[in-house]
Formats: sequence, structure tokens, C-alpha cells
Amino acid sequence: MFPREQAAVSSPGANDFDVIVVGAGGAGLAAALAAAGQGARVLVAEAADRTGGATALSGGNVLAAGSAVQQAAGIDDSPDALFRHISAINRHRPRPGVVRRYCEAAPETIGWLASHGVVFDPADLRETGGAGPARAHRARGHGAGLVEVLEARALAAGVEFAFQTRVQALLRDRLGRVCGISHDGMDITAGSVVLATGGFGGNHALLREHYPAARRFEEQSWYIGPGHSQGDGLILAKGCGADLWGEGEGLLILTAGLSRDIEIYLPPWLVHVNRLGHRFVNEMADYVIQSRAVQDQPGGFCYSVFDESTRLAFAKGVVDPRTAFPSPNWTAQAMSEHVAAGRIVTAGTVEALAECLGLPPRALAGSLERYNAAARGLCDRDFEKPAQWMRVLETGPFHAVRLVPAVLSLTGTGPRIDEDGRVLADGGPLPGLFAAGEVTGGIGGALYAGNGASVGNALVFGRLAGLAAARAAR
Ligand SMILES: Cc1cc2nc3c(=O)[nH]c(=O)nc-3n(C[C@H](O)[C@H](O)[C@H](O)COP(=O)(O)OP(=O)(O)OC[C@H]3O[C@@H](n4cnc5c(N)ncnc54)[C@H](O)[C@@H]3O)c2cc1C
Repeated sequence: MFPREQAAVSSPGANDFDVIVVGAGGAGLAAALAAAGQGARVLVAEAADRTGGATALSGGNVLAAGSAVQQAAGIDDSPDALFRHISAINRHRPRPGVVRRYCEAAPETIGWLASHGVVFDPADLRETGGAGPARAHRARGHGAGLVEVLEARALAAGVEFAFQTRVQALLRDRLGRVCGISHDGMDITAGSVVLATGGFGGNHALLREHYPAARRFEEQSWYIGPGHSQGDGLILAKGCGADLWGEGEGLLILTAGLSRDIEIYLPPWLVHVNRLGHRFVNEMADYVIQSRAVQDQPGGFCYSVFDESTRLAFAKGVVDPRTAFPSPNWTAQAMSEHVAAGRIVTAGTVEALAECLGLPPRALAGSLERYNAAARGLCDRDFEKPAQWMRVLETGPFHAVRLVPAVLSLTGTGPRIDEDGRVLADGGPLPGLFAAGEVTGGIGGALYAGNGASVGNALVFGRLAGLAAARAAR
């Protein structure tokens, strides 16, 4: 192994390595381990001083259907059902071959990870994406635990790591085949190269170019991942002529801007209305669905309304049924402070609140009356919000907070790949170059398939790309 402080040095042989993997997050570690399992000599070049990337910060959920873990939990599911789900939510316009491959390879990847010591507890399977059976397989120790196991296994398999080695260029031979990497003037050659550099959430210029929605509410936008998510892989692949896909795609989480906490789930008692004063979504829908619904409203934002009795009812903060955690931003005390600071707008009546927000007063009053009637009747025929989380809003003062989709969790543009993770240029494979994980964007298309789709993408295609890269290097 190379010392963490130094760049790699060449080893003897026709090529210095069979496979060089660029990036040591989930995709890179899976690729390295899979390639080493084929007998390949593997180097992982990592810009940071440790493994992990965004994967180590994540919940460590892997989206898979038809796994042995699900079977152990008595869940009847199949890759085909997941494929149909991803196709349907993306209006049958995803990348069918790649999505199909993902769905079929995901259960075996769960088994492969388990064989390397990653523990998936059948009791810890979670629903994801707002539909279907429990498909999010949570690794013990979450993302950090996953990375720890994969790094240890890769080291045991003879994989070499070069830390603080930010790859700046790809080497190409006279025929255009990618044959190595360059870092600080030092060239290292290999039979194939796997790009696994993650997304570009930390690069504002690339965001403006490929995912402008992420910068729309600039003053409230922030990226929850690591600083090395600079889009290097995208730039390197593009420099070799790679086709790009996933333009304008990614995942933004809603924020009320009350603090820099990630609030995947906002309090279920909020009532969302758009700029026209109309309700438009089940406020308990999956966070992916809610975020997309808000982006589709006029102006791309909404207001969330509640009344004084709601504020007081949750004096200690609401315990959310989806997380079992009380959210610190929404205790009665915290909300008073937000009101004082002007982050939450307050008025004595619904009509006065509407005026403060610039909403049509009659429309807002009408929407809340309809909501109150549904709450009293315990039945929301408009959006099917579960009745136990609907509270009648009738006690002034009334409060509202603006919600914007501005917390960036992942980006979706990257080099186009085929079912084996080969990078494509003008529709055909770019010899010697593979890519996997967030660098290639998401798997399914514009609508994120749900929690576990991105870590899953990293691990499933990391493994497939590692296997294919090892084969190609022979
Ligand atoms: C806080 C958080 C929570 C999340 N939760 C979930 C979740 O529960 N479920 C889910 O599916 N997704 C989740 N995501 C998204 C998911 O974690 C990532 O999309 C996925 O893990 C990306 O894996 P990756 O291997 O492609 O990239 P990363 O894990 O980001 O790894 C990329 C690596 O490449 C390195 N690198 C970058 N450029 C270079 C270069 N030029 N040379 C060398 N190395 C380089 C980076 O330092 C990094 O180590 C979450 C993300 C975050 C930030």
C-alpha cells in the first residue's frame, strides 16, 4: 500500500497495474474488490486522505428487489417488479438496458456484499420511494460501516491505495484507448481505468451548467456531501469524448431554512400550499415525491401553514412516525425563536397571513377550510394524507414557513455507460474506460427511485464495472 501522504509510484511490468480505480467511495471500493477477485492488480487513487466519499456519510441503504434478505423477512419481491416501478415513475423513459441490469444484479450484489462481511438485517429493511415492498437494505454501521468492510476486504485482496492522489488527467494511447492516469506530473499506466469519483455537488460552475435547479434558491442551497465531489470524473470522461446523460437530474431535499440540519422528513402536520394558495400534495408522501411536487409548482417553492394550537401541541417537538426522532427545529420553543427572527411568518387570521405571504386570501382560506373539513371527517379525498396527522387549523395566530428544494444530496449528470459500466462515446464503448456510481448520474432517470438507489447504483455498477475492467485488462 502507498503511504497516505504520498502519490503512487510505478511498479514494474508492461502496465503498472491491470486496473486503476479513481475514487474510493462505494463504487470505487466495490470495483476494486471485484477486479481484485478476478486476479487483477489494482490501484485505487483517492483524492482524500481516506476512503469513503459520500458513501461513508450516507445511510448505507441499498435498493434491491428479490434478495435473500427480503426472502428471510418473508417479502415476496422480484427484480422485474423493481424494473417496472422505476420505469413507471420515469414515464417509461429511463435507460432500459442499464436499469434492467441494475435490477437483476442488485440481489446478487447484496449476496456478494454479505459474503464479504457486510451485514444486512432482514428486520432493518425499509420501504423506499413511496411504493412497493421494503427494498432499502440497510448495511450495519450505515455507510461508514459499509466502507470499513469494503476497504478491509480490498486490502486483504491485495488492492493498493494511493491517498491524496487527485487524478488530473487520463492517459490515452495512439489508438485512443485509455491506458492510465496522471497525478501531479506522474503517469501510472493500466489496462483499464474505472472512474468512481462521485458527483459534482461541490462544484458551483458544473451545477449551473448541468443542474441549475440546485442553484435556484442560492441563498438557501447547500450540498450535504464531501468537498471532493467536484465532478472530476465527468470532466475527465468528457475530455475523452464521452456522451453525457442525465442533464438537469439529481436530488434536492426540501428545506424550511431554519437551520443546516438535513430534515428528510418535515413535520407531518404541516399543510403545503403553492403560490396560488392551493394544496397540491400529500404532506406525508415520500421526500422524493414531495420535493418533485414542490419543484413543479409556480415559482418552484411552497408555503407550509400551521396554527397556534399545533405549535403548542408539539411543545417537545413532534416524534415523526417515519424516523422516530423528534425534529429539533419544530419544538414550540424553537418555533417561537424562528417567529422572532422572521423565519416563520405569523398573523392573527388566515387572510392576514395570506396578505403577508402575497397569496390570494380567499384561495388560502378556501384551501384551509377544505383541509379542516377533511381533518374533521378523517378522510383526505384530495391527497390521501393519513388522517391521524391531519389537525384542524382554526386557532390563531397562524404561521407559515417557505419551503424550497435547495438541499442538494446528489447529482445526476455524468458519462453514459452500458450494462457493464463501459463509458460510451458516440454510442460505442470508449476502449479502456469504465465508470460507476454517482459520477455516471442516477440509474433510473429524472425521478429518483428512492432511498438506496444511489448507494445501490455505486455498489451494483461498481462491482459490474470492476469485473468488466478486469476482463478488459487481460
Ligand atoms: C449525507 C448523505 C446521505 C446520503 N444518504 C443516502 C442514502 O441513504 N441512500 C442512497 O442511496 N444515497 C444516499 N446518498 C447519496 C449516496 O451516498 C451517493 O450518491 C453514493 O454513495 C455515491 O457513491 P460513489 O462511490 O459514486 O461516490 P463517493 O462515495 O462520493 O466516492 C467518490 C470518491 O472519489 C474521490 N474523488 C473525487 N475526485 C477524485 C479525483 N479526481 N481523483 C481521485 N479521487 C477522487 C472522492 O474523494 C470520493 O472519495 C447520501 C449522500 C450524502 C452526502
